[in-house]
Amino acid sequence: MNRMPPVFVSHGSPLLAVEPGDVGPMLAGLGVELPRPEAILVVSAHWEAPEPTVSTSPRPRVIHDFYGFPPALYDLGYDAPGAPALALQASGLLQDAGMAPRLSSSRGLDHGAWMPLRYLYPIADIPVTQLAISPAHGAAFHLGLGHALAPLAAEGVLILGSGGLTHNLGAFHGQAADAPAPDWVTEFADWAAESLASGDAGALADYRVRGPQAARNHPTEEHFLPLLVALGAAGEGATGRRVRGGVTHGVLAMDAFVFEDSSA
Ligand code: ZN
Repeated sequence: MNRMPPVFVSHGSPLLAVEPGDVGPMLAGLGVELPRPEAILVVSAHWEAPEPTVSTSPRPRVIHDFYGFPPALYDLGYDAPGAPALALQASGLLQDAGMAPRLSSSRGLDHGAWMPLRYLYPIADIPVTQLAISPAHGAAFHLGLGHALAPLAAEGVLILGSGGLTHNLGAFHGQAADAPAPDWVTEFADWAAESLASGDAGALADYRVRGPQAARNHPTEEHFLPLLVALGAAGEGATGRRVRGGVTHGVLAMDAFVFEDSSA
């Protein structure tokens, strides 16, 4: 069984599902390059709960959790099997780590999950489940959440964080897809990428204080927290390899990261 490196992807606008640009092929390439996972645990920015919650749905439905987009987007699906056994295993690991996980039997896949998965694994034959983030618990908690899930990566489960390296939705509206990125976006994206390359988990967990323009790039935390979960799942001393995705709509940095543990 292959160890599976945890991965973070920036999913950008829902339009990515119908307008692949450079990011769709980048994600498709990642899906080919990575070992084939036994199952996938997606940690999406678009599912928040008071405590970490895992879906035990045997056949997760696709949720079109966005409004006012072209009709073609609402016809897209991702008909993958669920992963209830993995959900229970994840929940057990979180419990062992002193957390208070919950289970949901009905939760499906939101666009933070199915949209990148359509590019990464288009055949949709790998069992998949989702884990909710809990923003009220803060950044360091999510690094610890990832640490608790590290044994799954060793068993060939892909821990897939899905959010945005930068994500100021207020600045996003009205921007053309190819609008140039201002300095305050690239500065933060480059700082995060450098911190990940050097494995500085402490700086990343404290990103709101130590990252340049952090609060401007993440007015709310939910799109950054999945990155910390993926980093944590790679273990102590892990580093993140940046897979460049450019910046769309001026303010959405689309980079992905593949996390290697210190022994890799
Ligand atoms: Zn999003």
